[in-house]
Amino acid sequence: MSISIDRSKCVGCGACVEVCPGNLLVLENKCARIRDVRDCWGCTACVKACRRQAIAYYLAADLGGAGTKLYALDEKRTLTWRLEFPDGSQQSIVVDKTQSNQY
Ligand code: SF4
Ligand code: SF4
Repeated sequence: MSISIDRSKCVGCGACVEVCPGNLLVLENKCARIRDVRDCWGCTACVKACRRQAIAYYLAADLGGAGTKLYALDEKRTLTWRLEFPDGSQQSIVVDKTQSNQY
């Protein structure tokens, strides 16, 4: 499991740094960087916290294929997961946050 940070999209807001439970992310020259991707356990907190969708989570092969990237758009009532497949195609999954804690 791992994430990647697109430095061209990052605005250095620090939101991802604040939410990482492992304190793995740092700001460097106003841009987020992960200290060591091998320490990331894929909780996706930083992916959801980034308002710029600068952080992508790589899905393992058994979850959609190597090279597939997962982005999140966390809004007040919905959480939209966007999958970007290696062939360029995309798929979105919208979760209604008002209904997501009942299980
Ligand atoms: S996915 Fe979770 S553990 Fe990995 S860098 Fe992001 S917040 Fe930290
Ligand atoms: S939350 Fe996104 S824009 Fe903000 S520092 Fe992290 S990667 Fe950059």
